[in-house]
Formats: sequence, C-alpha cells, structure tokens
Amino acid sequence: MKAASFVLAIAIMGMLASCENVNPQVQRWGALMPQQQALPPVTPAQLYREVNIEVTMIPKGTAGRKHYRPMAPRYITIHNTENPSPGADALRHALALKNGALKSKMRPGGNRIGYLTWHFTADQGLVAQHLPTREQGEHADFNGPGNNYSIGIEMCDNEGNDPARTIDRTAKLAAYLMYVYHIPVEAVVPHYHWSRIGSSPLHKPCPHWLLDHGRPGATWRWFQGRVQMHFNRIVPGPVVGI
Ligand SMILES: [Zn+2]
Repeated sequence: MKAASFVLAIAIMGMLASCENVNPQVQRWGALMPQQQALPPVTPAQLYREVNIEVTMIPKGTAGRKHYRPMAPRYITIHNTENPSPGADALRHALALKNGALKSKMRPGGNRIGYLTWHFTADQGLVAQHLPTREQGEHADFNGPGNNYSIGIEMCDNEGNDPARTIDRTAKLAAYLMYVYHIPVEAVVPHYHWSRIGSSPLHKPCPHWLLDHGRPGATWRWFQGRVQMHFNRIVPGPVVGI
C-alpha cells in the first residue's frame, strides 16, 4: 500500500469508527459536507454571513402576524416543508407566508391564528427569515411549548434542492441561534419531539430527512453533532440580526 492510500485508509477508518450511523444516505450527505478540519473559527457575524439570511418578513399586522405574540426562545425546532413541487424553495415559501396563502383552520386546542407560520426556511442557497425570533410561530404543537418557546426552521425538500447543502446551512443557523439565546444542543429538536394533543399521529414524523423509521435516532444524533461542530467554531463577538 502506498503511503498516500494508507493515510486515506486510516482517515476513512477513523471516520467510520467515530460514526455510529450506517444509514448510507447520511454517509453520502456527510461526504459532501466540509470536514471539521477544513472549517475556520468564526465570529458570530461571520457565521451569520455563512448562513446567508435574506430577511423577508411577513409584514406586521397582516396574515400570520395579525396579532403580536412575544416569545423568549428556549428551543429550536427543525422541520421539512414536505413540498416536493419544483421551485418550492425558501423564497417561494416567503412569498406564500407574506400573501397569507398558508391558511389553517382555527379551532379550540388547535391552530390559534388561522395560518401556519415559522421563523426561517432553508434551501441549498439561502435562508429566508419570515418572523423575528422574539415572536411566536404556529408550526409545532398548537398551544404547546413547541410554539410558545421554539424557533421554527423549515428545510426545503423540493425537487432539485440539494439535501446536504440544505442540512448543513440549517445546522449553521441552529448553531448561531444557540449562541444568541444560550440554547443547549439538546434543545435543538425535531418537530417529532412535540406532542400535538388532539391530532393523529400524536408525534408528526418530521423532519423526514433526519428521522429513522419515522423517529429520532442515529440520523438525528448525527445532525445534532453537525450543529455542535458549527457551534464549536464560534469565537466570542457581537451578534447580528435576530
Ligand atoms: Zn414539521
């Protein structure tokens, strides 16, 4: 064995040993993402720029922001849009939210405002921000802690959108929000985490990209590892945006 291929073999063995996940899809995504050693330390402002956030809020007082509902974030909830239509990217969702197109039937114990809303939508190229992070969304569990205390991030799964780039962008955004609000990685949760009282199934199998057999497992832990890795890159500095 030549020296170079020997070094490569050792590196691959190390990667496999440190990775409990045997899901071949996860292995493929991981291989497309930059490795930790290749990523420089970042200030919060630099990480915010890497995420590439386009602020395109639902206008105050309209549609899903008709009523002001303040929030002190304690959790970050991750979703998939489950919208495979070609072109259903982050900015298309921003438009739908602004136009009040994502209606949901209001009912006691169910949707509280007549619309679905959330804070951020990530795709392969950017993140669109729809709500300030200090306002409640309507994306998780009706009047439960998922809506009352969590920042909602949707990952686009439309045709042609690259999952590896979308997941890594989402992980960077989650790391940034952890830093801003002192949220531990254990409080970065899948939508599945929240009980939707009165709905069936009680736990929605979302985000489908990051669940194993409809539940959080090794793939979810791999994602949390990716979030923690980006968080660990942060060197102290002022925060930007919200
Ligand atoms: Zn969801």
